[in-house]
Amino acid sequence: MNTIGCQMNVYDSEQIAKGLKPLHYEITASLEKADLIIVNTCAIREKAEQKVFSFLGRLAGLKRKRPDLIIGVGGCVAQQEGAKILERLPHLDLVFGTHAINRLPAAVQTIVSKKCRIVDIQMADRIKEPDFVANGCEAKHVTRFVTIMQGCDNYCTYCVVPYVRGRESSRRPENIIREIRRLVESGVREVTLLGQNVNSYGKKENLCTFVELLRRINDIDALLRIRFTTSHPKDLSQELILAFNDLHKLCRHIHLPIQSGSNRILKMMNRKYTREIYLEKIDKLRNICPRIAITTDIIVGFPGETRTDFKETLELMKTVEFDALFAFQYSDRPNAAAVRLPGKISKEEKKERLQQVLDLQDYFTTRKNKALKGSIQTVLVEGLSKKQNRVNHSDKSQRLQWSGRTSTNKIVNFFKNDDENASDEDMMGRLVNVKILKTFSHSLWGKTDSKEPTDVGLRGEKSYVT
Ligand code: SAM
Ligand code: SF4
Repeated sequence: MNTIGCQMNVYDSEQIAKGLKPLHYEITASLEKADLIIVNTCAIREKAEQKVFSFLGRLAGLKRKRPDLIIGVGGCVAQQEGAKILERLPHLDLVFGTHAINRLPAAVQTIVSKKCRIVDIQMADRIKEPDFVANGCEAKHVTRFVTIMQGCDNYCTYCVVPYVRGRESSRRPENIIREIRRLVESGVREVTLLGQNVNSYGKKENLCTFVELLRRINDIDALLRIRFTTSHPKDLSQELILAFNDLHKLCRHIHLPIQSGSNRILKMMNRKYTREIYLEKIDKLRNICPRIAITTDIIVGFPGETRTDFKETLELMKTVEFDALFAFQYSDRPNAAAVRLPGKISKEEKKERLQQVLDLQDYFTTRKNKALKGSIQTVLVEGLSKKQNRVNHSDKSQRLQWSGRTSTNKIVNFFKNDDENASDEDMMGRLVNVKILKTFSHSLWGKTDSKEPTDVGLRGEKSYVT
């Protein structure tokens, strides 16, 4: 399975794997050994789509060598291109859209028995509950994504999501709670709730509000942390802002995409807020929760973006001082309204603007990280650090380097101090206090410490001990 794209695709790929298990398919890291290759795709930007087609093209050789190999394409590119993918790539067997995941096992069985090719891109108005959520997760994981709603009704003019993921639709709260309980039973300690605009959760279907859902999740025993993404600034409610103070498991981090600092461009993007409204919400968040980490998305080079508009984005970045951001060069997407806008910005100009955004952000991220040197942070241990995973840790005499995140979503790599009493076997999923001794632009480094955290964690955050 190859997953390209956002957290929602990661979640969908897990559902796909669970659905194929009864057909005796197991995940393998080796393409050469696979009997079935599923590519879960992303269409959000032109670059992501190019990546999909270049990977699919490379699979032709494998299919020539092993004609029984089944190759399927799912996700947003599958939804967008449908049967055209099979015409373009004769070595593929299956195209299944974003609403066809539940039907995938049956499609694979049909291909095996009838040696046919299948395209299924039928969409539904209502979200179909995943059939495969069943038994939590088998591998030991500390953090997991949980999709709470799909699709989007906002139609930002640059965005393909409403066309490839369909209309907004929320899952029922009891199904979400049941899924999280099962994850927690299998060892998960942190969940990230996923939706394109979580603030409008349940409104259309008259379910509970998003904050009510958060409250119910907050009550699940043994779950330690809750995150969510993404929150649309126009719908960020006072109720949700207050939840950062009220709900002790809700992490002190919000991803609040601004996209542009220019009101003229925000209007052309159909974002339905102004920079002033955005800044007001940031003030409210910081008043309620002074140390909250704020991250954002920025698009540079939207059609008609002048140097003055772009400067306003840089100015807004200086006013907010984001903890981190994702910045993208605008690219035309099929069906999205901005395709028809005049004033397309050249590749060179977009590249130059992107670099300016990244350089400025690098300054703020590095400065914010440096300020944490010497502090004690509460970290949820997610596993061994990436560096540690690369070295041979069968050597028992070697000291293990662990990794986790703060409530504010900063990655911390660390060693256990000599007086740390948790054994290596007990580290995963535990909350530990770490003294930050070194800071880098994208991570922090330190050692566990028995002292109380220096405030930035969640209030009264405690490990769940079985
Ligand atoms: N629903 C989220 C919101 O409203 O902010 C965003 C979801 S989208 C999957 C993630 C990010 O991709 C967007 O916030 C935007 O910055 C970026 N993006 C979307 N369409 C784009 C395009 N055509 N060109 C460049 N970046 C794009
Ligand atoms: Fe796309 Fe806008 Fe919906 Fe986000 S809110 S998914 S950017 S249309």
